Amino acid sequence: MDAPTAIVWFRHDLRLGDNPALHAALAVGNVIPVYIWSPEEEGSWPPGGASRWWLHQSLTRLAEHLQKLGSRLILRHGSSLNCLQTLAAETGASSVFWNRRYEPSVIDRDKCIKQTLQDASLEACSFNGSLLFEPWEIKNKQGKPFQVFTPFWKNCLARDANLDPLPTPATLPSPNDWPASDELVDWQLEPTIPWDAGIRETWTVGEVAAHEQLQQFVAELMTEYKDQRDFMAIEATSRLSPYLHFGEVSPRQIWVEVQAALAGSEGEHRGATHFLSEVGWREFGYHLLYHFPDTSTLALRKNFRDFPWSNNAENLRRWQRGQTGYPVVDAAMRQLWHTGWMHNRARMIVASFLCKHLLIPWQRGAEWFWDTLVDADLASNTLGWQWTAGCGADAAPYFRIFNPITQGEKFDPAGEYIRRWVPELAALPNKWLYQPWAAPDEVLADAGVALGSDYPEPIVDHPTARQAALDAYQAVKVEK
Ligand code: FAD
Repeated sequence: MDAPTAIVWFRHDLRLGDNPALHAALAVGNVIPVYIWSPEEEGSWPPGGASRWWLHQSLTRLAEHLQKLGSRLILRHGSSLNCLQTLAAETGASSVFWNRRYEPSVIDRDKCIKQTLQDASLEACSFNGSLLFEPWEIKNKQGKPFQVFTPFWKNCLARDANLDPLPTPATLPSPNDWPASDELVDWQLEPTIPWDAGIRETWTVGEVAAHEQLQQFVAELMTEYKDQRDFMAIEATSRLSPYLHFGEVSPRQIWVEVQAALAGSEGEHRGATHFLSEVGWREFGYHLLYHFPDTSTLALRKNFRDFPWSNNAENLRRWQRGQTGYPVVDAAMRQLWHTGWMHNRARMIVASFLCKHLLIPWQRGAEWFWDTLVDADLASNTLGWQWTAGCGADAAPYFRIFNPITQGEKFDPAGEYIRRWVPELAALPNKWLYQPWAAPDEVLADAGVALGSDYPEPIVDHPTARQAALDAYQAVKVEK
């Protein structure tokens, strides 16, 4: 008779190191790793195009890694509950383990699955594999969730939590007979019209790549992180966001890698402290999404629910395509389209531009990011959009309207970022690069730029749009 068997249900934890569900399964006996494709169970947020691309590569890497350890990745599609029940019946598994996710519709689904499996006398357990701190562990003095980041993160750091990651198993005990598996290619996660060349060039997916990226960042970039992180043309940030989203690296592994580097260094640790606080913003996003589950579609600040937005489809399309006539905005939107990623400073600039200069609802921007970002993450995306729109927790005040000209001058001072992504403006001198419409005709002619044909005229006039945004804000300012 086969040894006792446990199913490990992989989700946003596509790694073998520091994987609590896998660790628990190893203690049972044979391990059946499974991934279930069930996009219809993700509520309003089934994975977008860029996420599906990443998922395809990540599952491929995970399957290869499992194979090296003498195991396999079983793929199933359909209702998660049915798949798990069927797999347990086929393999005689007595346990099903998974690492938790925190999106509202997934929480509801998982609760129901856990109960149903337990009712059928299966051991069903979930673990924390994605966060440093569970969202319900952190409370303010009144026992309520935090809505401001600094006290939230202070509270986290004051906790005496064990953040040691679990080891990667050397081998995985396997059943004599493997159950059937889908073929990954049949799920058609990769695009049929190949728009993904830039994403392919940009990223190496998987657990091994995630750790290389982490180690390189810690060794080469972390010290300067605080001073360099806002400059859009420089690779000064970790670019770990998609790896974190898909769980190819865990925040505990990041935490320990950073601490190890600090232990071996002397002097100031501004870079490391700031970097860990950004990982803390990710935790804050999950804290908020867990406690305010409506906020992926509804403003946390209720007065913003009546904001006089404009739904101008043509303006939205021009923003999406990087054709607004504001070079820094267009550079960022084209970086997103080409690479599936955008610099954080650029995300704030384009989000502010959409919500404030164009008065288009932040939800439309969040949806576009959802489809095009390889790191699309419901908690961080919701936090980022509500923060920028001014309607979320600890949000930028609504009247702080990013100036798309001075933001470019300040955070792309040599104009490299704009020239890389908006090559039609490459020959413009820096003086006019951030606002080509203001350049004298002969300067435009010398640079070979014909506004309105080579590059668009600005979609809105900055001072006029700014005033319109402030007027709209007056209408909802009073908190209800
Ligand atoms: P680093 O600067 O190296 O930071 C390390 C890690 O900390 C990141 O990988 C990320 O996990 C976390 N982090 C950093 N900044 C933030 C932040 N502001 N909020 C939450 N977590 C943070 N991040 C996503 O992962 N997915 C999203 O869908 C997403 N959407 C966003 C939308 C808007 C409008 C804005 C303003 C920000 C959004 N962010 C999102 C946050 C942030 O822009 C990215 O996490 C960051 O740019 C990723 O690059 P990095 O890995 O080099 O970050």
